[in-house]
Amino acid sequence: MTYEEALDWCEQFIDNLVSANVDTKRRTLGLQAMKKCKQAIEKQMRRKPIYWNNKMYICPNCHRAEYIKQRDGLDVYCGGCGQLIDWSE
Ligand SMILES: [Zn+2]
Repeated sequence: MTYEEALDWCEQFIDNLVSANVDTKRRTLGLQAMKKCKQAIEKQMRRKPIYWNNKMYICPNCHRAEYIKQRDGLDVYCGGCGQLIDWSE
């Protein structure tokens, strides 16, 4: 299963849960769980850093600079939020 397929599965689950005949507490808990799943999946998908203010790269997810360092040939995750950073050209 690709990350895109996993995200699509989450979206379908959310759509079904919204229209399901379940009590509010179960719906809320299910939606919160699916939101966390989506966030975890999205952080595993490479995203380019943002070149901010013409002076530094920042994380595309949490917008912090201090936790992303370019290291050739190695996967780099933001130390602040866990986003996988894509340093490729
Ligand atoms: Zn981050």
